[in-house]
Amino acid sequence: MKNIVVTGGAGFIGSHLCEALIEKGYKVICVDNLGTGKMQNLKNIIKNKNFKFIKHDTRKTLNLKLPVHYVFHLASYASPPYYQTKSIETLMSNSLGTYNVLEFARVKKARFLITSTSETYGDPLEHPQKETYWGNVNPVGIRSCYDEAKRFAEALVMEYVRKHNLDARIIRIFNTYGPRLQKDDGRVISNFIDQALNNRPLTIYGDGKQTRSFCYVSDQVAGLIAAMFKDGIKGEVINIGNPGEFTMLEAARLVKKLTGTKSKIVHKPLPKDDPTRRKPDISKAKKILGWEPKVKFEEGLPGTIKWFRDGI
Ligand code: UDP
Repeated sequence: MKNIVVTGGAGFIGSHLCEALIEKGYKVICVDNLGTGKMQNLKNIIKNKNFKFIKHDTRKTLNLKLPVHYVFHLASYASPPYYQTKSIETLMSNSLGTYNVLEFARVKKARFLITSTSETYGDPLEHPQKETYWGNVNPVGIRSCYDEAKRFAEALVMEYVRKHNLDARIIRIFNTYGPRLQKDDGRVISNFIDQALNNRPLTIYGDGKQTRSFCYVSDQVAGLIAAMFKDGIKGEVINIGNPGEFTMLEAARLVKKLTGTKSKIVHKPLPKDDPTRRKPDISKAKKILGWEPKVKFEEGLPGTIKWFRDGI
């Protein structure tokens, strides 16, 4: 049986990934410091004989006695309000933490996948964003603790590919939503749904014309799995996201319609360095992995809303 380590496995995407891997018959070791991850996210698998949870912060050296064949490295704060509050932790998790997890993978001779981010493109001047685009990032702005930390992590991974021949791939994930998105994590979809269900105004930052492309969590997980198990893609950088592009005004109206809320829309100041447009070019993922998203935004939202309402 193959053993897989998932760092950040108790988080929103990580917990769905752990479940999918167990479903496929792997033994999964989830490593999480519970900074934003929750044991509740693991309730479907915590008692499974092929699942093991280890509370550990990746900023410390990782040691495990058993053989490990694959390492998914997801551990990091990821929502802007959280990574800005925990800015130094975010920088250190993605730099020192990524170093520790890369060393672990090197020693174990494991295949490695890191979840990087569309934020490596910053406020992009190229649209949609291809993997070849180098980005437009403010290196000293309020988002740089995340953007630059992820860019450093990518650079470090590439040196492990070049210097140590590590079989690693870099996945740039775009905005992802679905059940287990934390309602207080401050991201737009969780904010809108939580506000709508509690009849509070939906807060749009700025004029609401900025765009994002929202990927349903099952599609994101399928993309990560496809990328990990694809042979011969050492050192490849691949976008995984849904190219359907929406303004925040459109997203707010859709949430209003699907929840039937009476909440109004209010405008709040636009945070500094907020990217104006974001949409993945996924032709590389389609070509190399044969992957593409299946769930449209309007199809994924009802189940997400149900989860916020009922917790299932
Ligand atoms: N946003 C918004 N209202 C909110 C939260 C976020 O209008 O309550 C906007 C935010 O300014 C950004 C977009 O929604 O333009 C996506 O923000 P999010 O924090 O979800 O993630 P980002 O894509 O910026 O990392």
